[in-house]
Amino acid sequence: MELITKFKNLAELTTYFPDDQSCREYLEQMRWNGQPVCPHCAHDVAYRFAAGTYYKCKACRKKFTVTVGTIFEDTKIPLRKWFIALYIFTSHKKGVSSCQLAKDLGITQKSAWHMLHRIRYAFGITEPLELTDTVEVDETYVGGKRKGKRGRGAAGKTAVVGLVERKGKVYARPVNSIDKATLQGIVRERVAPGARVVTDELASYTGLAKDYRHDTIRHGDGVYVVGDIYTNTIEGYWSQLKRGIFGIYHQVGTKHLHRYCTEFSFRYNSRKSGEVARFNEVLTGCDGRLMFKTLTGKEQ
Ligand SMILES: [Zn+2]
Repeated sequence: MELITKFKNLAELTTYFPDDQSCREYLEQMRWNGQPVCPHCAHDVAYRFAAGTYYKCKACRKKFTVTVGTIFEDTKIPLRKWFIALYIFTSHKKGVSSCQLAKDLGITQKSAWHMLHRIRYAFGITEPLELTDTVEVDETYVGGKRKGKRGRGAAGKTAVVGLVERKGKVYARPVNSIDKATLQGIVRERVAPGARVVTDELASYTGLAKDYRHDTIRHGDGVYVVGDIYTNTIEGYWSQLKRGIFGIYHQVGTKHLHRYCTEFSFRYNSRKSGEVARFNEVLTGCDGRLMFKTLTGKEQ
């Protein structure tokens, strides 16, 4: 479904969505294509009440609204503020801190922090399931004070493994170990069999040649490019990720690192989309709510 969107920047967005009602109608278009679907039983005939502020399912008779089962469910923040937050967060290349967002929206920093994590969760819904063609695989360390990789000053750092299809999408996530089982497990989970995989000489990658066309570049010998054997694409992604984390968020706890990986992967993967397309993409895939409990391990 392609909706004709009549705003093309933040100023126009705030005019286009004067209230929660207009936001709700837009979300209904993006999520349901105008045809309400019951979140309780998936039936697609419902009665509309109070100008669409809620629906009642014809089959199971339960009430619902368009935000049930989405990242917008059960928050006290008006939907209009969510839309503004989403636009700011997806259009700013480096993201936005919860402090800044709190000021921009006139809400508490805690609320802003929670909103941003819910939006990151929605970003994860569009993560690539299978990479093909030529895929560069590499690991890095994030956090801690010292630079370096693989043991040199790795204390306090968390390992992150990344896979990027050249000219395509990236997938990255923190790992507890960079042993063979972990790294090859992720490669086999995310890369199509028979694809070409390029890595450095880390022993954990030995054996990938069974299922992939595996090329190795020997960084230990000071060699970084041999023909089209290189891992420069994923290294470029690492510098974006690290600049983003240090520049905007300063410090990221290990517990939440995967959400920041998802955030920067989303930015990378939607790099060819315009701001409005990116905004719409998140609204279309906003199902799945991230509870405060899940985030912090305690009740709100
Ligand atoms: Zn139902």
